Amino acid sequence: MASTKLVPFESTAVESIPSIVHQCQTTFRSQKTKPLSYRLVQLRKLYWGIVNNEDALVEACKQDLGKPTFETFLTEIDWCKNDVVFVTKNLAKWMKDEPAPDIPLTNSMLRPRIKKDPLGTVLVIGAYNFPVQLSFGPLIGAIAAGCTAVLKPSEVSPATAMVLKKIVEESLDPSAYAVVNGGVPETTALLEEKWDKIFYTGGVVVGKIIAKKAAETLTPVCLELGGLNPAIISKNADPHLAARRLLWGKLVNAGQVCISQNYIMVDKEILPAFVEQLKITLKEFYPNGTKASPDYGRIVNQRHFQRIKKMLDDSKGKILIGGEVDEAENFIDLTVVQVDDINDSMIVNESFGPLIPILPVNDVEEAIRIANTVHSTPLGLYAFGTKAETNKMLNEITSGGASVNDAYFHGSIPTLAFGGVGESGQGAYRGRASFDTFTHRRSVTTTPGWVEKLIAIRYPPYAGKLARY
Ligand code: NAD
Repeated sequence: MASTKLVPFESTAVESIPSIVHQCQTTFRSQKTKPLSYRLVQLRKLYWGIVNNEDALVEACKQDLGKPTFETFLTEIDWCKNDVVFVTKNLAKWMKDEPAPDIPLTNSMLRPRIKKDPLGTVLVIGAYNFPVQLSFGPLIGAIAAGCTAVLKPSEVSPATAMVLKKIVEESLDPSAYAVVNGGVPETTALLEEKWDKIFYTGGVVVGKIIAKKAAETLTPVCLELGGLNPAIISKNADPHLAARRLLWGKLVNAGQVCISQNYIMVDKEILPAFVEQLKITLKEFYPNGTKASPDYGRIVNQRHFQRIKKMLDDSKGKILIGGEVDEAENFIDLTVVQVDDINDSMIVNESFGPLIPILPVNDVEEAIRIANTVHSTPLGLYAFGTKAETNKMLNEITSGGASVNDAYFHGSIPTLAFGGVGESGQGAYRGRASFDTFTHRRSVTTTPGWVEKLIAIRYPPYAGKLARY
């Protein structure tokens, strides 16, 4: 690993943004980015750019989020490298024309097929919590699809944003790929440009700004948003496994994970055993507590620290585990709170932090009713219980994705498209889905000259043709 010194955050000059975008548009029109060989070279260069900057990425994620090195490799660096490998292995196959399915014999002479066209020049706007994965993930898809792209990482993770810029600038074709760094003014300037797709990851409020702006020019969007994800533990679930898996789901990135459970509904019958297992597991994971451990992150900044703290302060619930906060370090302990009201601040807000509100319920039916009241379309659902119970949860609660008997495992399978539904987002990506999201599936037929006699019936004059048709 080559080590790199981190550089201070610097926004891209707003005045330079139109020419950066124009360059990418010109390059796209030149056809340069379309051949398979070009795409593969760029993807491989990105792979090695990441490898060569692993130290810097680890350091930057530590600086921005206190991210443990293991987590940076697991959820950022290796995630991206694996995605590149998966995509490069399969790209030639995905790019091939697909014959139209189920066509009548009479149409087969036209060779009806689906051609995979790159959408054009696309904008990728990343979020702060997984600053590498959520920026490079969509970028990998854009390159694979043959698009040119501008990446706007989150300024909320400033150190990582600068490393991403360095990697792109030293690895990729500068006429086709660029990084614009900055916050609202820079993103607003980017949104003034005409894009062929905007891929946005972040909160619902900004998601609506992006969608409205995109609608002005009928620009397609992929929106990867948040949601109030429920976990449900029936009385027949294994409290030990449920505690381990859901605790892990909240300790990664200090809970700053869009798909982690926002609240857990636990059957009253199993509640004491579940809470006991949470305590035992927490001690096992962090024998000296979370604060002293290098394996527990910090909240990204003061604004988010205060937001999460307020949720905790406003709650009428009873703290069962944790509760310590330290403003000087943006530290919030993994905190389990028992709440009895579905309107509690811990239930109605997305914590996006290490809070675990537990809502006791009488049965699975009640949990399903509550889940559907709190949010009709969460990003994730985590169902623990018998097969019949978890099937019922899956069938009766809508969500972007779901993991049965686990926390967000579905989010780590490269052949499963990742995305929300309804208010948790639209569109999906990852692996094949990343290629698809930046690709236009273009329907094409080719009519050979020799079929002219066979198709002549379509030409006027129509007199007498209806009877023969
Ligand atoms: P953020 O602060 O990193 O912002 C996201 C992006 O929006 C940034 O690049 C930022 O510069 C840009 N932005 C901010 N204000 C803007 C404005 N007024 N106009 C234009 N662009 C603007 O992230 P966030 O929004 O705080 O992210 C947290 C939310 O994102 C949570 O709700 C979380 O659930 C969601 N999220 C979803 C996913 C997913 O894959 N579905 C992943 C991560 C985070």
